[in-house]
Formats: sequence, C-alpha cells, structure tokens
Amino acid sequence: AGSGKFFVGGNWKCNGTKDSIAKLVSDLNSASLEADVDVVVSPPFVYIDQVKSSLTDRIEISGQNSWVRKGGAFTGEISVEQLKDIGCKWVILGHSERRHVIGEKDEFIGKKAAYALSEGLGVIACIGEKLEEREAGKTFDVCFEQLKAFADAVPSWDKVVVAYEPVWAIGTGKVASPQQAQEVHVAVRDWLKKNVSEEVASKTRIIYGGSVNGGNCAELAKEEDIDGFLVGGASLKGPEFATIVNSVT
Ligand code: PEP
Repeated sequence: AGSGKFFVGGNWKCNGTKDSIAKLVSDLNSASLEADVDVVVSPPFVYIDQVKSSLTDRIEISGQNSWVRKGGAFTGEISVEQLKDIGCKWVILGHSERRHVIGEKDEFIGKKAAYALSEGLGVIACIGEKLEEREAGKTFDVCFEQLKAFADAVPSWDKVVVAYEPVWAIGTGKVASPQQAQEVHVAVRDWLKKNVSEEVASKTRIIYGGSVNGGNCAELAKEEDIDGFLVGGASLKGPEFATIVNSVT
C-alpha cells in the first residue's frame, strides 16, 4: 500500500437472503476495523435498504450498477438518484460480469461513470483483462483501453477509485501474484500520469480484485501501488472481510 487511504470494498453480487444478510451485517457491526481504511459494501439492490438501516455508519454502501442517466421509463434499471436517495455513496461500474456476461461496452460504462460522478456518487471503476488477452500479451492494451473510456468521459477523478480485476482471477480462486498485480497497478498509474495528470496519478487509489481472501491479502497489501481491494466471495463472510480490511497494517 502507498500513502493514500486504503480502500476495501465488498461486492456481494447477486447473493444473499434477508436472513443471511442480517447475519452478515451483524458480523460486520461487531468486527473491529482499522480506523484508517475506507470500507464499503455493495449489497444487491433489493437489500440496500435493509443494510442501510442496520449496518454501522462506519461502513459506506455502494450500488453494483446504475443507469446511465436520470431515471424514468427504463424498466428494470436503478437510477443514480435512487441510489443516493437510499443512502449509497458509491457505485461499482464496469465490473467484468457486466462487461462480459451482460455485454456492457466501454463507452456506455464511461457515460455511466460520468453521470454518477456528476450527481455526487463515488465510482469504483473496474478494468481488467481476460485470460486469453493476458496470454496474448495484451494485458496493458486492454486495461488502458478500458481506462481511456473512463478518462474520456469523467469530469473529475476526485471520487474515482480504479479497481484492477483480471477476469481470470475473479471467482476462480486463482489470485494474481503480488508482483503481477503490482506490475499492472504501476502501469495504470503511469498511464494516468501521461494521459490525465501527475496529480490524478498520485492521488487516485488503485485497488486489486480477484480471489482476494483472508490468507493472501497481507502479501498483496505490501505492494506499493496496491491501495486496497475489491472483494467478492470473501466479502460474504464478516470476519474474513474484516481481516482483509485490516491487512494494511
Ligand atoms: C469481484 O467480483 O469483484 C471479485 C473480485 O470477486 P472474487 O473476490 O470472488 O474473485
């Protein structure tokens, strides 16, 4: 971890029931979390209200997606206005499951980020290469292209956290090595320096996601350019998520 405030997000994806979420919230409420870490959880939309009314204010809440502009006649979508109304401070955009399972494209994701930021939400902007892209030596090209779509659209980087999440590491149990992650984080920072500004490059937190768990987080957190984590599976277990939050020390 570098000098920026460590950031750990828990992406609960499309998991949970009222009961399991009540248990998770209760475990999070009783966990001891390092003070100097931003902690965010992202429940499924339908449980956000339950989580907001029962979870400690110490932990902020994120949506897992948002509509690209103001809400209205868009069946099945959730607007930025609604996320704010229900107490969210963040939204995850460009997650690989939305890119590769649902088919969202770079430009659309960039527009979503711009709209969410213009309305005051923070954005967890996800990028990352697929296995075949890594094997073809295209990791940086893919990450830079996805990053550029965000950079071309966003009005400011003040409330953006970049999440580097190699697709081959998400939900697979195959975590990137600290060196593999660090290498891409440095490249992303360098890209920001050359294409946005030196200030944005040094201030923007770049977090890693992909099979982070209680056992591998400490080694990853030692890397200079890993400023936190986006955690899927392991964020569904309160005590393990707390271990990951506290891995920065
Ligand atoms: C994610 O969905 O953002 C993620 C990193 O998942 P997992 O930790 O389960 O690999």
